[in-house]
Amino acid sequence: MRMDVVAAIDIGGTNTKIGIVDRNGKIIARDVVPTTDYPDAKDLVTAVEKKITGILDSQLSSLNPQLKGIGIGAPNGNYFKGTIEFAPNLKWKGIVPLADYFSEALKVTAVLTNDANAAALGEMYFGGARRMKDFIFVTLGTGLGSGFVANGKIIYGHDGFAGELGHVIVMQHGRQCGCGRKGCLEQYCSATGIVKTYFEILRSSEPEAFNLLDSSKVDAKYIYEKAMAGDESAFYAFNYTGEMLGLALANSVAYTSPEAIFLFGGLAQAGEMLFNPTILSFEKNLLNIYRDKIKLLPSSLPENDAPILGAASLIWNELHNSRH
Ligand SMILES: [Zn+2]
Repeated sequence: MRMDVVAAIDIGGTNTKIGIVDRNGKIIARDVVPTTDYPDAKDLVTAVEKKITGILDSQLSSLNPQLKGIGIGAPNGNYFKGTIEFAPNLKWKGIVPLADYFSEALKVTAVLTNDANAAALGEMYFGGARRMKDFIFVTLGTGLGSGFVANGKIIYGHDGFAGELGHVIVMQHGRQCGCGRKGCLEQYCSATGIVKTYFEILRSSEPEAFNLLDSSKVDAKYIYEKAMAGDESAFYAFNYTGEMLGLALANSVAYTSPEAIFLFGGLAQAGEMLFNPTILSFEKNLLNIYRDKIKLLPSSLPENDAPILGAASLIWNELHNSRH
């Protein structure tokens, strides 16, 4: 007996997580190395390689595991080239051919994509999008990431960078974005965006409360708890966020006509507080041919494991496609 497994790697600004995943999406072993300890990407690859071989040769040796490939989810990951390109939250500058490094180190196929695309595939293989061929996956974390699946495939576009909903401009001359432009969606609809909205609302509606506020304590969770306790400014911050998100999602529907849109990440965990205003605005702004038929759903991937499951599904997806 032997067991096919993939190594899934989630490159984060602070930590790089490693998971050994079976075909059913079960994470059978995991480990972690601190990304920040490796200013040279090659050294990180060596450290991860040692961890993976260690796990396969000792911890899992009784299963006789066969490593089928390495799936990597990374910020600014380019699927076509297997590179990480100019990632703002990583120490590695320029273009890093990470997939090549991994495939040389472990002598198997390595596939890399950006973290949101990986998570979208994870939703398709192991989450709520099973049996769906057309859907949009949106992560609402520090920023806003997205993956578009059409006809059963992630849309990568001409150069591998398709699906950047977070940087669609929703407000002319709006908030300054990290990308250098102004008014991008992620400046409004993300964990950091809602904090900005809350401050704006509070500053104009309750200036005294705003002046007394310890702004370092305010994050999306704080605003959520306030809103749940009946605080109007916090409630309106969610309303405004949902309004902007619903509008942007309604527009994005016109490109791919999805069956569903999945929301993932910290902000999506606010549940109805976010979903109610989002759905209201979404339906209001949809072109009539799409109305009342596109599901807006919370992701069913477990928050902590989504990046690993997503990275793993990159390889299962590759193997699946190569059979056809
Ligand atoms: Zn931007």
